Amino acid sequence: ADILNSSYPFTLTAGVIASLLALAIGINYLTYQLHLSLARLNGTDNVGDFKTQLKRVLDRFCFHKGIQFCVYDSLNYSFYTLDYHGNKKLVLTDAKLAARFSPIALTYRSKKYGDELTKKLKINSNHYCIPLFDGRELLGVTYVSCRFPTYKCVLSLIQNYAQVALANLKLHDRLRHQDPMTQLENKACLAAKVSRELHSENRFIAMVDIDNFKYINDKFGHPVGDLVIQKTAEVMRDCFPKPKGICLARYGGEEFAIIMPRTSLERAQKVANNVRSAIQAKKLMRRSTNEPLGQITISFGISMLTASDTTQSFIERADSCLYQSKKNGRNKVTTEAETQNQSAA
Ligand code: GH3
Ligand code: MG
Ligand code: MG
Repeated sequence: ADILNSSYPFTLTAGVIASLLALAIGINYLTYQLHLSLARLNGTDNVGDFKTQLKRVLDRFCFHKGIQFCVYDSLNYSFYTLDYHGNKKLVLTDAKLAARFSPIALTYRSKKYGDELTKKLKINSNHYCIPLFDGRELLGVTYVSCRFPTYKCVLSLIQNYAQVALANLKLHDRLRHQDPMTQLENKACLAAKVSRELHSENRFIAMVDIDNFKYINDKFGHPVGDLVIQKTAEVMRDCFPKPKGICLARYGGEEFAIIMPRTSLERAQKVANNVRSAIQAKKLMRRSTNEPLGQITISFGISMLTASDTTQSFIERADSCLYQSKKNGRNKVTTEAETQNQSAA
C-alpha cells in the first residue's frame, strides 16, 4: 500500500510531463506544417495560383465561414476578384478606399462595420480584413469570415508571408511585361496581347513613331532624347487610361504601339489625332538649362484586324501606314483605307 501510495504522485508527474511533451510536439508539427504551406505561396507564378494556395492555407489552419480575395489595381483604383482560371472581374472602383486600409493592420470587424468592398462582395458576417501591402502600396485584400476573433496570431503570420509573395509576383510580372524606361508594356507583352485578340472583331492597332528623333538626340544629347520618349509615353498614357486601350506598349527605341479595342476606324483615327495634337501642343524644356526643345511631333499608322491576320501581318500593315505618314511629311495619321486609296490612284 505504501509503494502504491507513493507511486501516485510519480504517475501524475509523468502524465503531466508526457502531456506537455505531446503538446509541444503537436505545436511544433503544426507550426512546421504552417510554414511549409506558407512557403508554397512563394512558389506560385501567377495571381490565380496564389489565390488558390492562400485559400488552401486558410482552409487548413483556420475555421472560417468563407474567404474573399481581391486584387487592387492602383492605376485605376479598382478592386477585382479572380476566378479559378485567374480571370479578373471588376468589383469596385473607388479612389478613396485604398487609403483607408493601413499596412500591417489586421482588423476584426462586426458585420455592421464592413466597408464598401464587403458590401459589394456581400459579406454579411463578422470578418477579419487582411490588407496585403508592398511597402505603402496596396496590392490586395483578403476577408476571412469568422464568428469569433480567435485567429489573430496565425492570420498575422499568413498576412506577412502573403504580402511578400504577392509583392514578388507583381515585381516579376513588371519585369516580364513592363518597359523600365516608360513603365508602358513591352514588345513581348504587346505580341502576347495581339495574339490573344486575333479572333476578335473591331480591333485596331496603331504604330506610333516620334518624328526626326535622331535630330533631337544629335542636337541635345541622348539623355534629352530619353526625356522626350518618357514625356511622349506620359501623354499617351493620359490619352489611353488603362481599361480603354487593351495595350499601350513601347515597341522599341522611339516607337510605340496601341491596340484599340471595340472601336471604328473613324473613332481610332480621331483618338490618334487627339494624341498627335496633345504631343504637338506640349512644350518640352531641357531640364538643366530650361532651353525649349522645339516642337515634338509623332506620326501614326493604323490597321484593322482581319480574319486572316497573324500577329506579324497585323503589325506590319500598321507599319506600312506609318511609313506613308512619314512619306507625306510626318506629324500625320494614316489609316489602311487611305494607303489603299493612294496606291489605287
Ligand atoms: P523619322 O522621323 O523618320 O522617324 O526619323 P527618326 O530620326 O526619328 O528615325 P531614326 O530611326 O533614324 O532614329 C531613331 C533614333 O532613335 C536612332 C537611335 O539612336 C535612337 N534611339 C533608339 N532608342 C533610343 C533610346 O532609348 N534613347 C535615345 N535617346 N535614343 C534612342
Ligand atoms: Mg523609328
Ligand atoms: Mg522616328
